[in-house]
Amino acid sequence: SLEARDVRMRFGPVEVLRGADLLAPAGEVVCVIGPSGSGKSTLLRCLNGLETRSAGRILLGGEDTSTMDINVLRQRVGMVFQHFNLFPHKTAAQNIMLALRHVKKMPQEQAEAIARQRLRDVGLADRAGHRPTQLSGGQQQRVAIARALAMEPQVMLFDEVTSALDPELVKGILQLMADLARGGMTMVVVTHEMGFARKVADTVVFMDAGVVVESGPPEQIFDAPSSPRLKTFLSQVL
Ligand code: ATP
Ligand code: MG
Repeated sequence: SLEARDVRMRFGPVEVLRGADLLAPAGEVVCVIGPSGSGKSTLLRCLNGLETRSAGRILLGGEDTSTMDINVLRQRVGMVFQHFNLFPHKTAAQNIMLALRHVKKMPQEQAEAIARQRLRDVGLADRAGHRPTQLSGGQQQRVAIARALAMEPQVMLFDEVTSALDPELVKGILQLMADLARGGMTMVVVTHEMGFARKVADTVVFMDAGVVVESGPPEQIFDAPSSPRLKTFLSQVL
C-alpha cells in the first residue's frame, strides 16, 4: 500500500498542497483527477520523493518513507511521466539497463536479460537497439514503462502518460496499464482519461486547489458526485 497523510507542500509563499490524503491499498488502482494546477503532479512527486513535502507523512507498506534511503524509495515506487524522460543518446535497452546497473549494481548480462524481457512484455522485443528519436511516442512511453517495471517496484505512479501521445496511440498505452492493473500492480494514476478511470480504478480521487475534495469508487464519483466543485469539473470534461 501507499498512503499520503495530510501532505503539505509550498513553493515559496504558495501552498500547493494544503493537506492531501490518499490511500492506494496493495493491488488496487487509484486514479487522480482534477483541474490544471490543483496539485496532482506535485502530490505524485511527493509520493516517490522527487519533491520534498513541507509537512505530512507518506507510508509505503505501512512504513514511514521519511527515514528511507531516497534510492530505495524510488526503486520501490516507480514513476512514468507525460514526456517519457528517456535518455536521448541511449537505446531502449540501455535506458532500461541504466538504473539496474548503477542503482541495483547488477552485472551487465543480467541487466541485459531483464531489459530484453521487459521490452518483450511491452511489445517492443524488436526495438531494443533503437534510440528514442527512432521510436514513436507510444513506443517511447512503452520503454519508459518497461524501465520503471524493470526495477520491480511495489507501486507504480503514472502522471498523464498519454497526454503527449497522438490519439491513435493512446488506447494501446491505456491497455498496457489496464493489463498491469489486472496483474495486481498497485497504481496511482493521474489522468484525463475518464473512461480509463471509470473502467480500471478501484478508487477515484478528485483534487482541487491542493486538497482531495472527494474520493470514492468510480460509480460514485462519476454518477453521483456530491461536491459542487466536482460537479462543475465533470460538466467540463465529460
Ligand atoms: P496539470 O493538470 O496542469 O498537470 P497539476 O494538478 O499537476 O496540473 P501541479 O503541477 O502539481 O498541478 O502544480 C500545482 C501548482 O504548483 C501550480 O500552481 C504550479 O504552478 C505550482 N508549481 C508546481 N511546481 C512548482 C515549482 N517547482 N515551483 C513553483 N511552483 C510550482
Ligand atoms: Mg500535472
